[in-house]
Amino acid sequence: MIPKVKSKNEKGKNGGRCRSVSAFGETSPAGGFKSACHDEAKRRRVPVSVISVICGCFCFAGVSFAADINTPAGMSAYLKNKQLPALKAVDLWESQFGTGLKLTTAHYEIYTTFLEPLTLSEVPGFVESAYRGYQNQLPRPIETSTPFTVYLFANRQQWEAFTIDFTGPQAPMYLKIRAGAYYLNGACVAYNIGLERTFSSLGHEGWHQFNSRLFKYRLPSWLDEGIAMQFEVAEYDGGFFTFKSDRNGYRLGPLKKTLLNNKVIPLSTLIKLNPGEVVTEGDDAVGAFYSEAYALVRFLREDDYGKRFPQYQKLLFDGLNGQWPLSERDVRIAADRNIPITVGWNSAVGKMLFEHYIIGPESTMKKTESDQEVVPFDKIEKQYLVFCRKIVYYVQLR
Ligand SMILES: [Zn+2]
Repeated sequence: MIPKVKSKNEKGKNGGRCRSVSAFGETSPAGGFKSACHDEAKRRRVPVSVISVICGCFCFAGVSFAADINTPAGMSAYLKNKQLPALKAVDLWESQFGTGLKLTTAHYEIYTTFLEPLTLSEVPGFVESAYRGYQNQLPRPIETSTPFTVYLFANRQQWEAFTIDFTGPQAPMYLKIRAGAYYLNGACVAYNIGLERTFSSLGHEGWHQFNSRLFKYRLPSWLDEGIAMQFEVAEYDGGFFTFKSDRNGYRLGPLKKTLLNNKVIPLSTLIKLNPGEVVTEGDDAVGAFYSEAYALVRFLREDDYGKRFPQYQKLLFDGLNGQWPLSERDVRIAADRNIPITVGWNSAVGKMLFEHYIIGPESTMKKTESDQEVVPFDKIEKQYLVFCRKIVYYVQLR
């Protein structure tokens, strides 16, 4: 089924240049569960205005650039000539696949062998816009001094060769990613899978990169993946991008399908799950996990005029500063990325954080005989499901 998202301003003032992605990859270190972003190559593209994207900047590439632009030096000159607001510097990069480019922005260094003018014209503005969006999750911005590293390869062949070197013994796991990108050891590693999907994978993985470096505590899956999916669709806006989470058809489509098929993962289960636990159950289960996590973060930010937004920000801010009320054992795993994350940690911490920050202390006082926090969960789950139905109202499956 191809999800179509109707929006009042679907095209937007600049032609509705949305970026969507279907695949993201990341897996946990050996010994931990597979937390990653599964290849979702079977997902379908959101029907947005692709034509407007294609003609975005080639009109600027005159005859004088036509010959030079096929060389790294020519592409470098082309990009410099455009005076892109987010682009600070362009340098040649000698990669194992030949000469590429290194694009430097205020917060990123992008090493690329994909010398395609439209992508390279827009990727500096995209990563800087994403950085701004990541910062906006927090009550106040945090300073970063070391640039984030992104590798963007021209094709799968180069990506695989780099990945084998870069991931070492974990390579077989990463090579299972059928289309997309991953984050590991401080770097996002992507390859060209089409303009929209490539940018979307960078937006998604960029969040994992951002919080892995800057947050004192690692995030449980529902929160980490839920936020990452807020950065999968964006609209071009004068050299930068505006993220359009409400138009993320790749998540809204599976969410609608999940609701229609009555396959909703209960909220009390969702907050304890990691993707590795559902991957064996098939694509629909994976789609349900991701789409519900996406919806849950939106619910916390948007529902009822954003009444839970302060709690959501407090949750993140305390994770940033290492102030979650965790046990001594859970603190160690939370704070030390060298310790493999475990299913048990993700389950316990994911549940505890939701109860502590979102539901509130009273949740622990109202238990049934089966020791389930039925009263508050029932209440918030009903509100969550109403929100889910509301956001998929305009989605058409076909
Ligand atoms: Zn992810």
